[in-house]
Amino acid sequence: MNNLRNKLYQLRYRLNGKMQRFMIGRYGRPDELYRFLTIFNLVLIVLSFFIRNKIFSLLVWIPIIYNSFRLFSKNIQARYDENTRFVNLQNNFRNLFSVTVRRFRERKDYRFRTCPQCKKILRLPNKKGRHKVICPNCHKEFEVRI
Ligand SMILES: [Zn+2]
Repeated sequence: MNNLRNKLYQLRYRLNGKMQRFMIGRYGRPDELYRFLTIFNLVLIVLSFFIRNKIFSLLVWIPIIYNSFRLFSKNIQARYDENTRFVNLQNNFRNLFSVTVRRFRERKDYRFRTCPQCKKILRLPNKKGRHKVICPNCHKEFEVRI
């Protein structure tokens, strides 16, 4: 019994070493994109129980294959840039969502207008008529109608 345990331990030790050598110079990082794809994959798997479709069941494999490709990729810089682009996109989406929620919540007291120069969204008091506005971001003066 002890001998078997020893043999298993040695086998695991050797496999770990092989895996470590295999991963040298590879990306091997479970980053934000990896986590997102894993969750996306779980959602697809759950959906595949309800959607009995051959194409859909193939779709489930795409995140798995792409995640494996990224983990074992030797082009570390490209995978890093990919993740950075993904995180930026995710942040933009979150910002858009929070601005939309805020616009809805404050719709009675404020009006939201976009600066024509820097495209920043400005929150203006809800007073009817024409107003001169100076953008606090780029200091451009423009007129709005509320
Ligand atoms: Zn501006």
